[in-house]
Amino acid sequence: MNDILITGLRARAVNVPLEYPVKTAVGVVATSPLVLIDIETNSDVVGRAYVFTYTPLALKPTQLMLEELATIIKGEALAPYKIDQLFQSKFRLIGNTGLVKIAAAGIDMALWDAKAKAANVPLVELLGGVAKPLPAYDSHSMDGVVLATQRAKRAAAEGYAAIKTKIGYQTVEEDVKVIRSIRNAVGDDIQIMVDYNQSQTVPEAIRRGRILEPEGVAWIEEPTVQYDYKGHARIRDELNTPIQMGENWFGPEEMSLALSVGACDLAMVDLMKIGGVTGWLRASALADQARLPLSSHIFQEFSAHVLAVTPTCHWLERMDMAGPVLEPTLKFKDGKVHFGDVAGAGIIWREEAVERFRV
Ligand SMILES: [Mg+2]
Repeated sequence: MNDILITGLRARAVNVPLEYPVKTAVGVVATSPLVLIDIETNSDVVGRAYVFTYTPLALKPTQLMLEELATIIKGEALAPYKIDQLFQSKFRLIGNTGLVKIAAAGIDMALWDAKAKAANVPLVELLGGVAKPLPAYDSHSMDGVVLATQRAKRAAAEGYAAIKTKIGYQTVEEDVKVIRSIRNAVGDDIQIMVDYNQSQTVPEAIRRGRILEPEGVAWIEEPTVQYDYKGHARIRDELNTPIQMGENWFGPEEMSLALSVGACDLAMVDLMKIGGVTGWLRASALADQARLPLSSHIFQEFSAHVLAVTPTCHWLERMDMAGPVLEPTLKFKDGKVHFGDVAGAGIIWREEAVERFRV
């Protein structure tokens, strides 16, 4: 019997420094703005998760949204499916997207964390999987030739079998220069993925994609604006290199639309935008149906657990957006992510750091 009830929610905004700023062809994320969520219950279990707001401008509204949502889940059972249905009905008219969706997804993740803690098992086990190591790639930025090569060498030395770099420089010649420099540094056995972060028009993405073809990259990610699914499909038709997208799908509904026009060869889902663990499980079923390899986007702590129960599991993205405020429960070794021996999703706040970076 599920007799644990939700009694409260604490949302704290922090702005966390990054080892490397996330530079993309369409802007820089210099620090990591996060809202940390603690869901309290009438037992000793506390569910934890965080959401990433991309810009510090969205920190306060996200925190407020979470505090408002707390008022309608207080007294409810610790039941993520039921809470998801409650949010779906509440947000039908405003639209189940944007900050509303982000806050609801954060709550969903924290609820799943709490459920796993109540059962005293890692989340992956609550979901029916086993905590075995999964392949992870090291995810880098639009770093320029020197830093891109330096980071690639470091990743290769750490044992990664795949590395991603962001491109979309002024010219495709510069894109090629960065890829070749990485290739020269790491050799042919390591996969290189590239990410355009939506920066190209469709014709320019096709032109650049054809020039990149001989470089043998493992995927080209978001070559054009993310909502242009047909544009992605046109680019995909013209190229042999696999097209990757999905980090910006809000909910499995948007994923389904993208798949219906054949937008991509590979998919990568963001746990927050897709709707938390509950949303991921639905997305994972869509990917399975289409036999589409599914990777994760940031949120490495929760992503490891859900990827382990994803039939078409592909890559975990190692990009650490919350490291300074977390105890490291995951381990990255020999190009794999290894689960820690902790109940839940393994989110443990470093309280003194949380206070230091509090907004
Ligand atoms: Mg990306």
